Amino acid sequence: MTSYVFDPPAVVSVPVEGQDGRFPVRRILCVGRNYAAHAREMGADTRDPPFFFSKPADAIVLPGADVAYPSRTGNLHHEIELVVALKGGGADIAVDQAADLIFGYAVGVDLTRRDLQNAAKDKGHPWDAGKAFDASAPISAIRPWTGAPPQGRIAISVNGQLRQEGLVADMVWNVPEIVAEASKLWTLAAGDLIFTGTPEGVAAMVRGDRVEGEIEGVGKLAFKIV
Ligand code: MN
Repeated sequence: MTSYVFDPPAVVSVPVEGQDGRFPVRRILCVGRNYAAHAREMGADTRDPPFFFSKPADAIVLPGADVAYPSRTGNLHHEIELVVALKGGGADIAVDQAADLIFGYAVGVDLTRRDLQNAAKDKGHPWDAGKAFDASAPISAIRPWTGAPPQGRIAISVNGQLRQEGLVADMVWNVPEIVAEASKLWTLAAGDLIFTGTPEGVAAMVRGDRVEGEIEGVGKLAFKIV
């Protein structure tokens, strides 16, 4: 039996709808600028190929938990996103084989310290401080899924005011294409989560805000900024 010099960190896991077993998280990949109108609001060319960044698994905020306003930012943004949960993986996955690897879907928010992300962009620095910080990935329970990916309404409101609204069907790169593209860069595996990008309307939140996200057919997510 392996001994460690201190206790290894606990496995991060997300509840699964209708099942006792939880989904163990291996890592979190995120797609940038995957809805045309959001890419434009970020000043990008919508024809760019997908690009990825990542968050650590322990950035997950479980359903029902509050989100502590993070350090070192005055511009914390919400990005409501469809999250793909993988039950299998591999490298160089074909688009038409991606569906077989999908365990289910969840509603996620890619929390962003926009001021730090913009400073990093200006300097050509990595995005980690802007994107991959503690508690930067609130997520709903995962809904097991077979068949065609979700296509419906995706929306987020803050204190009852609608902030972002779109259709998952309007993603520039769809779910099978995202899985295939990611697998060209990394060997994917069971437990990987992929945040698939956000529609337009990203905006700032402050302490006390009540945030509610929803994706048609997938679920709901609610948290408070404290
Ligand atoms: Mn995002």
